[in-house]
Amino acid sequence: MLESVVSLARQQLGADADKLIAVAPRDARLATWLWDAMALARPEAFGLTVSLRDTTPLSLALRYAQLAAPTLVAPLVLTVPERAALAELRALVVAWTGLNTWTPFEHLVFDPRCLPLAETFAAACTRSGGGVAFTFHPTLDRVALYPQRFIAGFRRQHGLLVAVLMHEETHLAAALAVPGARGLRGSAHPWENAAQLVQHVSYLTLRNGHVPPRSTLAAYLDRFSPRPARFVAAAPRALSVPGLVARAVSAAVAAIAPAD
Ligand SMILES: [Zn+2]
Repeated sequence: MLESVVSLARQQLGADADKLIAVAPRDARLATWLWDAMALARPEAFGLTVSLRDTTPLSLALRYAQLAAPTLVAPLVLTVPERAALAELRALVVAWTGLNTWTPFEHLVFDPRCLPLAETFAAACTRSGGGVAFTFHPTLDRVALYPQRFIAGFRRQHGLLVAVLMHEETHLAAALAVPGARGLRGSAHPWENAAQLVQHVSYLTLRNGHVPPRSTLAAYLDRFSPRPARFVAAAPRALSVPGLVARAVSAAVAAIAPAD
């Protein structure tokens, strides 16, 4: 189980793995090809209960890891103050947005020794500095996943860990607001904008001890987060921070395609 995706594929697929590797692209897409081939050939190794079209390489890697090396994937254990901060921020964002799908979510952390999962995470999330929320996945719809080393890094900056968890929960809550949804409609921008905005508002709230005024938020976003900075600059002047969050989250929900 501690082997790489390539050796795992060789174990699962035998000589077929090398035939596939010979023609597969030499980049992050190789992991995608191998997980798809393994799931097709060995669905039982993944405990698959959904059709392959509803899976992603990362969800397959997570399923495999949970079955084959359950001790290397564990729920994130929060401290008492972190739990309290998360509960408080959830309640605030629920009150601001009216989104009733903000239920407790499962935050999972994986050990880097779980190589197939670590490699697949790296391939799937080259730009993600946080976690991954398994939105639109029928059996992982309440789950977000993080590498262990990220968690330690977030904890070094006060408030950042809980803010990142709020980012992933925004994706999950928005996805669950459209039952059976399978993906995004049109651009993914409103989707990511809402999650980033909630993350930064959460971080500033925890760092400063109160919800920031719009001017403080705008100044912070101008320095650190261009997408929500543009969103805030374009929003009606009368909107306060709760109103901005509500507007961003409803745009994210509107960007989700209902089930076909
Ligand atoms: Zn995101």
